[in-house]
Amino acid sequence: MQNPRARANAALLQAVYYLDRELAPSTKVRAFIRALATVDALSDDELVERANSQTLTELDGIGPSTGEVIADAVLERPSSYLAKLEARTRIPIGAGEAIRDAIRGDCHLHSTWSDGAAPVATMAVAARALGHDYMVLTDHSARLTIAHGLDETRVRRQLDEIATVNAQMAPFRVLSGLEVDILEDGSLDLADDLLAELDVVVGSVHSKFRMPREDMTRRLVMAIASPHIDMIGHITNRKVAGGGRDGSVFDAEIVFAACARFDTAIEINCRPERQDPPEDLVALARQWDLKFCINTDAHAPGQLEWQPYGCDKLAQLDIGPDSVINTWSADELVGWASSR
Ligand SMILES: [Zn+2]
Ligand SMILES: [Zn+2]
Repeated sequence: MQNPRARANAALLQAVYYLDRELAPSTKVRAFIRALATVDALSDDELVERANSQTLTELDGIGPSTGEVIADAVLERPSSYLAKLEARTRIPIGAGEAIRDAIRGDCHLHSTWSDGAAPVATMAVAARALGHDYMVLTDHSARLTIAHGLDETRVRRQLDEIATVNAQMAPFRVLSGLEVDILEDGSLDLADDLLAELDVVVGSVHSKFRMPREDMTRRLVMAIASPHIDMIGHITNRKVAGGGRDGSVFDAEIVFAACARFDTAIEINCRPERQDPPEDLVALARQWDLKFCINTDAHAPGQLEWQPYGCDKLAQLDIGPDSVINTWSADELVGWASSR
């Protein structure tokens, strides 16, 4: 069995995983991250001694909750804190269960290369643990400086890291990708020849959400017409949590007609604060017989669990697994993406 410090580390990371799953406030998550750093500086002996004497909370960075989780792990007791947290944050699944069972990968997620919280390998281990055969790594492109987006040089370096992770994790596959910014004129934030080298590319709007309807329609259609864009991410950019944000306004008939013409998929973004696109747009996309991709847009390992939200949404609109491209194998997915 692991040593006390390794057990404490694992328990704290498990708590972070559950907290990320419920999109807990960052202060809460940070408390556990801080505790990880404190534990890292302690010897096994001091950990055991403080767990026994209940003096862990005397240390900077350890509070009552984190102290309880650490003590239980160190002394190899079952953790009621973790058990309660697991139960409270479990993601329910309803009508969408058949779709979830058919899903084999996640095509939109981030790592520490851009604004994600975990390295590629950590995300891959979590995706594999959920039963996925593959994940597409889609960090941000350079224009999104606030998210430390990737330019050509960093995309190439990331391809090397993907190769390393794949060598360790086969048969699980990390597919190369990018969440490339759709610029205001509909052009893309990375050169076409490099986009062509990536397995799967998500195109998303991250600026000027309020542009006039005609301009936004043109912007989206331009991106959809690009042979390098395989799917459009969070197409309306609405936010349904916090202060909320109305979705962008565009002519959905024209946009979806373009998706049908160029065989571009629509992402069902499962982030709880996005839930994008809304039901009426999904129903319209279905009339155009479009392909869907149910993505978590995870920025942390626990967020990879969000696909049930999108599965339920599609099932409630009578859309089945056949319309969902991440029910395909990695080879089928990459084959489709490269043939378009
Ligand atoms: Zn995005
Ligand atoms: Zn994203």
